[in-house]
Amino acid sequence: MTCSAAIIGNGISGIAATYYLVVNHGVTDVVLIDAGQPMAFTSAQSGENYRNWWPRPEMVAFTDRSIDLMQAIARDSGNRINMNRRGYALATRRGNIDDLLQELHTGLGQSTQYLLRLHDTAWPASYRPPINADWQTAPAGIDILQDQTLIRRTFPSYDPEVQNVVHIRRGGDISGQQLGMYMLETIRQAGGRRLTGTVQSITHGNWFALEVATPGGTVTVRAEKIVNAAGPFADRIAAMLGVDLPLHNTFQQKIAFEDKAGVIPRCMPFSIDLDRQQIDWQDEDRKLLLQEPGLRWLAEDMPGAIHCRPDGGDRGKWLKLGWAYNRTPATATLSPPLDDAFPEAVLRGAARLNPSLKAYYGRLPRNTRHYGGWYTMTPENWPLIGEMGPEGAYMSCAYSGFGTMAACAGGELCAAWIAGAELPGYGRGFSLQRYRDTALMQQLHGSNRGLL
Ligand SMILES: Cc1cc2nc3c(=O)[nH]c(=O)nc-3n(C[C@H](O)[C@H](O)[C@H](O)COP(=O)(O)OP(=O)(O)OC[C@H]3O[C@@H](n4cnc5c(N)ncnc54)[C@H](O)[C@@H]3O)c2cc1C
Repeated sequence: MTCSAAIIGNGISGIAATYYLVVNHGVTDVVLIDAGQPMAFTSAQSGENYRNWWPRPEMVAFTDRSIDLMQAIARDSGNRINMNRRGYALATRRGNIDDLLQELHTGLGQSTQYLLRLHDTAWPASYRPPINADWQTAPAGIDILQDQTLIRRTFPSYDPEVQNVVHIRRGGDISGQQLGMYMLETIRQAGGRRLTGTVQSITHGNWFALEVATPGGTVTVRAEKIVNAAGPFADRIAAMLGVDLPLHNTFQQKIAFEDKAGVIPRCMPFSIDLDRQQIDWQDEDRKLLLQEPGLRWLAEDMPGAIHCRPDGGDRGKWLKLGWAYNRTPATATLSPPLDDAFPEAVLRGAARLNPSLKAYYGRLPRNTRHYGGWYTMTPENWPLIGEMGPEGAYMSCAYSGFGTMAACAGGELCAAWIAGAELPGYGRGFSLQRYRDTALMQQLHGSNRGLL
């Protein structure tokens, strides 16, 4: 097989890069290569949430662009991607949130004054509660709710101790699977090909020659250009060309279950408990956990950012809970190293913000789904998009916990690099060039990474 561009990895990042090569630059002689089915690895595990809330303006601009592009696809496809927008609600029991406000100011940059709205009365005329999920009519900007009556009325399931809620309005969820399928159909119609097989080696002369192990034997793909979009295995693809990418993987888990008792309001936005906590174990269980060296940490101080949201629309019943507390890098594996303690731990942790979840303590429904995948990330939690080393080799990887929401802008940016087109303002910062900017790297290492 010969082609203009071979894309290694058909998760959302590889598919999106190919889609924008086809749609924006008319490059249709492409071969998409994956060891398995498209969208079946990390991209199948995504919580499918999106937001434009980040500690740094570059990430705000990047995700804002991605949301613009997702909205364009939602519009063109009759909302096949099920785009919803009730925002992200960040709750804290702290009365003083100056540090959080400062971070919001930094992220929003000059637009802060237009986008931040403070509400410290019970009936503010300018606050619109998240009753409707329609992305086309949802407000923009950020509402900060500081009045207890307003918080209780808007978020009746929350812990009554919550004193501040930061409601990010440009956020919600989509169907990442439908987004990938929509893009794949466009690529196929334009003449793009797919090859199922594992890339085992890459050599580089006038062309790239990829040895691909397929069910029918080894196939050689010759490509003028290649894109490394291999998700958790991107470091291995880079190593085939002698490139060492600054990547590591951490395993993160979620559960989804049917809220048969209806304890969470269906119009609750994606809700994050910002506060640290000790999980609400029974005394006996806590004692046992403290005696077990491998599990002791579950009975100690836990980080914030546990999250919960209704899944499946207003008439659905399912909930998704997640807590990306694992910070230990590990070698990525194909089978997920699920931790049996996770479902009860995340349930009890989430019950701190939504105490009605206690109804499920020790009795999660039998059809509860426990799943997980790899966050592939750089130390500063920015993606890697652009030239990868040898001329003609590109990458679109390190999407951590934001690959679904950033795929469109990441794909557009990667395609622009390949086509030699003009890059957006954030473009070079997401390439390997940022490691030459010591001042930027110092800032990034000293700031919140926006990891959820
Ligand atoms: C639990 C969890 C929750 C998440 N929640 C969210 C969320 O709410 N919102 C959000 O935006 N993001 C979320 N993410 C992140 C998002 O899912 C990922 O960033 C994104 O799916 C990464 O896509 P990818 O295409 O880079 O990788 P993948 O989907 O892993 O695709 C890589 C592909 O490369 C293929 N491959 C690898 N090596 C080879 C080889 N040698 N030969 C051939 N093929 C190869 C693999 O088979 C795979 O299909 C979450 C992630 C996890 C794990």
